[in-house]
Amino acid sequence: MSIDARQFHSEILVWDAHRDVAYEAPLKDRFLQKWMVGVDLDLDLVRAGGVNVQVYAISTASTLGLAPTAQALKELEIVLSMIESHADKVVLVTKIDEILAAKKARKVAAILNFEGAEPILTELGLLRMFYRLGLRAMGLTWNFRNEVADGGYEGREGGGLSQFGRSVVKEMNHLGMVVDIAHMTERGMLEVLELSETPAIVSHGAVGAVRPGHHRAYGDHILEKIAQKGGVFCVTTIPEALASDPQEATLSRFIDHVDHAVKVMGVDHVGLGADFDVYLSRLGLPAERWLRGLEEVDKWPSVTAALIDRNYPLGAVRKIMGENLLNLYQQVIG
Ligand SMILES: [Zn+2]
Repeated sequence: MSIDARQFHSEILVWDAHRDVAYEAPLKDRFLQKWMVGVDLDLDLVRAGGVNVQVYAISTASTLGLAPTAQALKELEIVLSMIESHADKVVLVTKIDEILAAKKARKVAAILNFEGAEPILTELGLLRMFYRLGLRAMGLTWNFRNEVADGGYEGREGGGLSQFGRSVVKEMNHLGMVVDIAHMTERGMLEVLELSETPAIVSHGAVGAVRPGHHRAYGDHILEKIAQKGGVFCVTTIPEALASDPQEATLSRFIDHVDHAVKVMGVDHVGLGADFDVYLSRLGLPAERWLRGLEEVDKWPSVTAALIDRNYPLGAVRKIMGENLLNLYQQVIG
């Protein structure tokens, strides 16, 4: 079979489940200016990569001197202003039909997500308010413990959901928000999968069978449970989560993680969540910070080509590149 992978890529829906946008943005105004300049460039890269949907992660886990709720509001204001000022290229979406309309209009559809529940403190009312502001997904933790649950880096104890965390999951189900279990402990992940009435996702993670010994690379029992509950597991591009030796962190290794997840979960439960970071990519970090062959978002067509090269049927490629996440979000946010 001969297929023009680039042409095929430009036609299908391509969804990136995790993209850092406002990480440490309020740290320094000088830095912020740099970022504000970088965003426009990045949107061009996103479009060059044929990516239709990006889930924008707002992170407040690193303490910058602001209370997390204030920091989240400040970051949201920056991101929403950025979206407004680039309205020809990007649009904030809160429903599936808006995502499909954005694709038609050749704009990037941006979904708002928190990476860590810190901004809601211990108040479900704050969760509801952020929903009103457009939030449609939330990662319950980043690496560390918060009021909702333990993060995966708290490996010594590996606690799961708090009592408040259980009420947060229920409220997210009720509101129609996607519950993201990336970065949680395995115990926390399993508790959410048991409790949640809607399917959950791992927006950016790796597969333990391919990369043993990394806290972001999960065992088959976790993958199986996510699939059983109708969820989607999204493979990340973070080199150290994909390979113990940075030299071996290549596009081909990334596809190995996808392959194993598909083998364990079935093709309806695997997606992609790059975790590209516009600041870091502009600040000249060393080469081992990037996945070779998939360094930036404009290389996304290489993923489609690599899946076709590994003999995935075109229908399966469509699912992995975006349709699985579209279906999940449709079930949850409507
Ligand atoms: Zn992350």
